[in-house]
Amino acid sequence: MWQVTVDKEKCTGDEECVDICPMDVLEMVDGKAEPVNMDECEGCESCVEVCEEDAITVEEI
Ligand code: SF4
Repeated sequence: MWQVTVDKEKCTGDEECVDICPMDVLEMVDGKAEPVNMDECEGCESCVEVCEEDAITVEEI
């Protein structure tokens, strides 16, 4: 299992992670990315790589 964390202080809401995630783990909630479907995460780290703000961390748990 993977734990996806979004630092809301860093997130600018550009939706890049929402668009790139192949598993639809992330959605926009109140203008920020939110991991709403974490069970589906496959740990590819595409969201981490695309985030210019370094707001996302993905850890195996
Ligand atoms: S690590 Fe991959 S599957 Fe998991 S939330 Fe990020 S983009 Fe989606």
